[in-house]
Amino acid sequence: MDMRWENFIGGGYRPASRGLYFEDLNPATGNLVAQVARSGSEDLQWAIDSAKEAFGSWSKTSPEARAGILYRIGEGLVLREEEFALAETLDTGKPIAFSRSVDIPRAAANFRFFAAAATQFASEAHEMPGRAINYTLRQPVGIVGCIAPWNLPLYLMSWKIAPALAAGNCVVAKPSEFSPVTAAMLGEVCNEAGLPPGVLSILQGFGSEIGEAIVDHPDVKAISFTGGTQTGARIASRTAPAFKKISLELGGKNPCIVFADCDYPRTLREIERLAFSNSGQICLCGSRILVEQSIYERLSADLVNAATQLHPADPLDPATRMGALISEPHLQKVHGYVEQARSEGGRILCGGQRLPGAGAFYPPTLIDGLGPEAACNREEIFGPVATLQPFATEEEALELANHSAYGLAATLWTENLSRAHRMASALQTGIVWVNTWLLRDLRTPFGGVKHSGTGREGGWEAMRFFTEPKNVCINFGPRNA
Ligand code: NDP
Repeated sequence: MDMRWENFIGGGYRPASRGLYFEDLNPATGNLVAQVARSGSEDLQWAIDSAKEAFGSWSKTSPEARAGILYRIGEGLVLREEEFALAETLDTGKPIAFSRSVDIPRAAANFRFFAAAATQFASEAHEMPGRAINYTLRQPVGIVGCIAPWNLPLYLMSWKIAPALAAGNCVVAKPSEFSPVTAAMLGEVCNEAGLPPGVLSILQGFGSEIGEAIVDHPDVKAISFTGGTQTGARIASRTAPAFKKISLELGGKNPCIVFADCDYPRTLREIERLAFSNSGQICLCGSRILVEQSIYERLSADLVNAATQLHPADPLDPATRMGALISEPHLQKVHGYVEQARSEGGRILCGGQRLPGAGAFYPPTLIDGLGPEAACNREEIFGPVATLQPFATEEEALELANHSAYGLAATLWTENLSRAHRMASALQTGIVWVNTWLLRDLRTPFGGVKHSGTGREGGWEAMRFFTEPKNVCINFGPRNA
């Protein structure tokens, strides 16, 4: 798959205005996947101009018609699932089995879900008896920017684009420079589904260039962003003077709290999944495993045993469960944290050294003996590295769990129902899973607190974000007037 991808603007593929391209590499091999347009402000202006032209009619298109198009986009992804899965794996180094079973089906589900939402998102009315009726119009924001990261590229991009379109907005989207291909391919599917030209533009390039230009453009009225906390903070400060709407889904340092009364075999299986899925490169991955003292030795031994059987291997082999990291620099960053853990007195229980060869392969790594202030317990690593810490009481577990600048997701493993409710209520996170992980109902609010971001995605939360509520108050007037 050695090719060139242009920007998708006005319903067609347009060469980069400055004639600049960057190399998209396969992190598992170092091979070139594609040359990709490196957009500048002129490309953005084309996209904005075509969005302005399209907005008038798209925003007035009936919800049913919008739903039909979104549904067909979802179907188009299903029809080309294998092609999209391959592209996702070549771009990111993730196992093809994961792209096939998670990334692409979920992207299709996002479009189908928000197709339905478009037809069901209704206005509210409040009567003031005898005096007036109030109703709330939910109008599209206008042109919105959607910026997504590389870890779940189409999955997260479609999680933004689909509700934005469902609500009647025009979208300028930017995928990560590390995972540009599936977003580029999405343009073809949108055309086949009948999405009018200009309603969606996909601009490729660097965050520091085109990402920032989208954030700053005065005609872009809202930014939906998923990515790192530092980038999120930068977007918040740049958009504040213009009072743009922002939804920021940022990093996590998620606690996984295991009580001795858990269903042990299930918990063990699930911890392996929550720590190492997608090589730990999911914002929701558990990276701080807190274990009740009485089962600490047993669980850490069993986890090490499970982790050492998880061998990073060729992502294109359907049997592979763990692939490559996104890039060599990212691998170096991940390894840097492991080295720091060593210097801070941590014990590397397994992993901790890159695999030989050209690809960015790093094994599952478990570390214990670190205090809550150690870098590996405070900072997001975003790799296959998790720490283990013991606790004696429920209070201590809660204190350790909440001892974080982040607040995205927590998992609780216990058969004690009262404890589960108590802990769930007291945890400072946007999401709590009890005896499960990454079980998602697309109607539920998704997002974090503290440095994990602001705003929520999913269901009506997303539809609310992508619309402006307008209250209309009609005075009934005197009866005989
Ligand atoms: P980044 O913040 O580096 O990038 C995210 C996106 O923003 C990319 O498209 C990037 O482009 C772009 N970008 C970078 N700089 C700017 C800028 N100044 N202005 C506008 N856009 C910019 O994050 P990563 O791609 O490294 O993704 C990993 C991070 O994402 C982790 O912290 C992870 O926790 C978080 N994440 C959060 C999720 C959540 O729902 N809470 C879900 C998934 C990931 P480019 O790549 O071209 O630089």
